[in-house]
Amino acid sequence: MIGVFPENDRLGRRLVVILRGFPCAWGKCTFCPFAVEQSLHTRHVIEDNRKIIGKAVQLAEEGGYERVAVFNGGSFHELPYDSVEKLRPLARGRIFEVEERSEYVTLDMLETLIGYYRPQRLIVRVGFETANERIREEVLRKGMPDSEMLRLSRLRLEARERGLPVEIWTYLLFGMEGIPEDSVYESLRVFKKLFDGVIAVRYHRYLPRHPRPVPVSGDLARFLEENADLVDWGGEDQWVIGGRKGSAPE
Ligand code: SF4
Repeated sequence: MIGVFPENDRLGRRLVVILRGFPCAWGKCTFCPFAVEQSLHTRHVIEDNRKIIGKAVQLAEEGGYERVAVFNGGSFHELPYDSVEKLRPLARGRIFEVEERSEYVTLDMLETLIGYYRPQRLIVRVGFETANERIREEVLRKGMPDSEMLRLSRLRLEARERGLPVEIWTYLLFGMEGIPEDSVYESLRVFKKLFDGVIAVRYHRYLPRHPRPVPVSGDLARFLEENADLVDWGGEDQWVIGGRKGSAPE
């Protein structure tokens, strides 16, 4: 659901800002629900986002929030410039998180974002979802091969050598047919070596053509809670997408 959502969880007290986006340029991932909330109309996107960002700036200042995550159901670099520019007071001096597909993330891009927004720290979240390339490409159709995973892992170190306050985090998807539990254990171990943070996301199905959600064992749930930086079990208001609630077995 687009809007501003105050959170207080293992990542601390923070604001989650969900903007209206254009359809993701990749748009092929088999499990992705975000298209139902996006718009092709520039004016629609700009006006909705002005309202949301205005509310977020006010809440961040009044509530003293030091961490802000901005999502748009796609890559940050696909937002209209108007929204990018309006976000400046929200990002400045705060821990500022955005999502990107891997191909947008380069050293120049990181330097540009740091120079433009002057955040205390920039966290770029990338949805690799699994460390198993076959599952990522054949089951999920992410279009992000292992070479991208390794490139970004090195890139974050190069960025830090240049003194850029940057971290790269990844999502780990679980609870979906085609993603066996043993691969989830392995993915978390690999991701923790390659990236600065891992957010495990429980899969929910939004559309009939999407893969089936499957139950999650107690052992896996415990392992994720103990080892991931955050486990997002879904179900909160921000996971109502385009008026739909995703489904997943208990
Ligand atoms: S890259 Fe992200 S937004 Fe784009 S289709 Fe895949 S999951 Fe959806």
